[in-house]
Amino acid sequence: MNDIILLKLGEIILKGLNRRRFEQRLLSNIRWRLSRIGRFRVYLLQSTVYVEGQDPDELDAAFEELQKVFGVVAISRARACEKDIDAIARLAVEAMREPMRHAKSFKVESKRSDKSFPMTSVQLSQYVGGALNDAYPEVAVDVHDPELTVHVEVRDLAAYVHAAPVPGAGGMPVGSNGVAVTLLSGGIDSPVSSWMIARRGVRLIPVHFFSFPYTSEQAKEKVVELARLLAPWCGRMRLEVVPFTHIQEEIRSKCPEEYFTLVMRRFMMRIAERIALDNGAKAIVTGENLGQVASQTMEAMACTRAVTGLPILQPLIGMDKGEIVAQARKIGTFDTSILPYEDCCTVFTPRHPRTHPTLAEVEEAEAALDVDALVNDAVLGVERIVIDFE
Ligand code: ATP
Ligand code: MG
Repeated sequence: MNDIILLKLGEIILKGLNRRRFEQRLLSNIRWRLSRIGRFRVYLLQSTVYVEGQDPDELDAAFEELQKVFGVVAISRARACEKDIDAIARLAVEAMREPMRHAKSFKVESKRSDKSFPMTSVQLSQYVGGALNDAYPEVAVDVHDPELTVHVEVRDLAAYVHAAPVPGAGGMPVGSNGVAVTLLSGGIDSPVSSWMIARRGVRLIPVHFFSFPYTSEQAKEKVVELARLLAPWCGRMRLEVVPFTHIQEEIRSKCPEEYFTLVMRRFMMRIAERIALDNGAKAIVTGENLGQVASQTMEAMACTRAVTGLPILQPLIGMDKGEIVAQARKIGTFDTSILPYEDCCTVFTPRHPRTHPTLAEVEEAEAALDVDALVNDAVLGVERIVIDFE
């Protein structure tokens, strides 16, 4: 009988009528992810996704990859056997050899969703616990606070034995909660804000504003790499690279310096909105964080968001920098984010930015620009890069 990976569903199980839609989305995300590794059988039974494979190395690789699938709260690598009590006990003794070596105490927890199995879960736990105790007499039984919990599950098709699950990625399956445009700079914050919104089940369209030659080809490559690092979590994406140089030069020559950043950010929002509307996206995600820089005061953010009717999602708004950095390390984007390529904001940063602007002031500051034409040209010039992962 093949070993198996068991994935416990997260918030999906709280869903009512549309639960099936969420489950189907999760299954297809899992299948897509695993198609890069090998051949697997993936199916859902009793709020658990089962992944079966023939090749143990492929199953190990799948176990790693599946920890990046949103919608799953816990993952276990389980051994399978026929639904016979002695076969189960033998398998438990064999499968727990390593874990038992490192534990001082253990208990067995059994679940029996096949109610025709001729023992109760308590009897099952006692029987398997007895066999483990005979095999490993130096490990004490402790039903209250054991170091190791051995799980036995008797389900429809087979019986399974596994030790502690590892945590899943949480959240909801990508694609189950709509589509959003996410503004991806080369910094630390925006990969994290993108990841957080994807985790809520949102499919992302990353957008990068590129100011060649003020920012180098390497700065663009860095953003492509960040998007690639996000792909295992977010799925296949299409990065939209917006030519931003002309807009920035226009701003620099026609607007008062203290408003450069604000006017630029309003252009980012207008262009992001256009890309969103063209692609069925219903929100714009940014890595803004209250008070972090001049453009992230409440007044500045009010002026920025005034140009769009779409909701702006700012998942980092109340986090401390240290928390954002910790999260960036955890998802694996930090080391790329701190590569030293300048971004478009630093090149045109005013010496004394307005931190508490009014909307009227900012509108006045950009009055000399042909906003519609600039936005149109930028959208027409977008370069699209498909982001996949190996
Ligand atoms: P980050 O670390 O994400 O770059 P930041 O703290 O440097 O953020 P800003 O540079 O003010 O803050 O940018 C705020 C947000 O605006 C970013 O998190 C990102 O979502 C978006 N943004 C900024 N610059 C760009 C860019 N060149 N392309 C796409 N989005 C951008
Ligand atoms: Mg930045």
